[in-house]
Amino acid sequence: MARVGILTCSNATQDLGCSSVVCLADLRKRKGFFARYPQDERLDLVGLMNCPGCPTLAGYDKLLQRVRGLTEFRVQAVHLSNCIKYLCPFKEKYLSVLQEAFPQVQFILGTHQEEGNPATFRELVQGLFSQPRRSMVDLILKR
Ligand code: SF4
Repeated sequence: MARVGILTCSNATQDLGCSSVVCLADLRKRKGFFARYPQDERLDLVGLMNCPGCPTLAGYDKLLQRVRGLTEFRVQAVHLSNCIKYLCPFKEKYLSVLQEAFPQVQFILGTHQEEGNPATFRELVQGLFSQPRRSMVDLILKR
């Protein structure tokens, strides 16, 4: 039996509404980056959590504290989601500090099966971020 966790990008989940359905579907089907776990063995998703947000150049400890919510519960591996893989400018730094801090856990960059071109995915996400959205500002200014 393997015990794993998933770490996602809070831009994708909190801002853009991803509920990690594709990551979880491929975990159930042992596809993508979960194909490494045998189909006939139990695979437990112990937990799933968001990155705590931009670390700046100084705040990687934020993620080290946050990820204890997974590493303290006997996970063998933590998968950093495809949205981290394709969108996060800190992913390489994250991988190195996480691996150094938790050598007993394997950190894997990727979750679900990869489809299409990462550059196209980034463009599509950019479109989501830049679409006009009403906000509290519009309520305050009665627009
Ligand atoms: S630091 Fe990376 S994973 Fe975290 S919210 Fe920002 S882009 Fe996403």
